[in-house]
Amino acid sequence: MSIKLIDCHCHFDDYIDEKIDQQVVQEALKNGIVRIVGVGMDFESSRKILNASRENDFLVPCVGVHPWESWKTSMEEIKKILKLIESNVDFLAGIGEIGLDYRFIKGVDKWQRQKEVFELFVKMGAEYSLALNIHTVGAEKEVINMLNKYGVEKAVFHWYTGSFIVLQDILSSGYYISINLSVTYSNRVVGIVRQTPLNKIVLESDSPYEFRGILASPSHVRVVAEKVAEIKKISVEKIAEITTKNAKRLFSIEF
Ligand SMILES: [Zn+2]
Repeated sequence: MSIKLIDCHCHFDDYIDEKIDQQVVQEALKNGIVRIVGVGMDFESSRKILNASRENDFLVPCVGVHPWESWKTSMEEIKKILKLIESNVDFLAGIGEIGLDYRFIKGVDKWQRQKEVFELFVKMGAEYSLALNIHTVGAEKEVINMLNKYGVEKAVFHWYTGSFIVLQDILSSGYYISINLSVTYSNRVVGIVRQTPLNKIVLESDSPYEFRGILASPSHVRVVAEKVAEIKKISVEKIAEITTKNAKRLFSIEF
């Protein structure tokens, strides 16, 4: 039985240089990864992913601005990104990567600015019922409060490392947690997998991020699936079946 996996968070623009890096795509397909959700860091990366998605069925686009960028991005540029979402709303799978990061970015003024920008994207996501692909570190509670404030229907907390208390808020709001290679070395992430029911778990590569010496690629979602299977004590086929069903529902992917 061949398994079908979905990479729910990938910086795919890194694999587009004039043309798409076919080796990365072939390697992913060989490992059962049939769809890759690309997330933008800023306008340029978002546009790159969006354009490539138009010609490649395996690529599923999200447009957004990362919290490491959002606080220093001009309002003019932010508006360009919002406009890119609005004019492609029927084609987009979601908005991301967006969020709040109070650990890697320090300073109340910068946090304030991150929050203003994040709020604009959350509002838009709620308005168009788009899934939000979220990055948050040290601001998990603020993020969940914002999502609840606007009644966001669909969201995934990528690489969640927050408290188990806020995890319960995320799950009871119907949102997802996405797991990556950090599950192979982090006890905290293993604990999060244990605490999260399978119908709320999706998988990701976050590639090309380097995880403790391993340069991630979309094909590593297979390794993540195997590790989650081991933790949940069920077969990798079952993990693939359930997480792929979750990802399809989350990002309105059809196949
Ligand atoms: Zn990311």
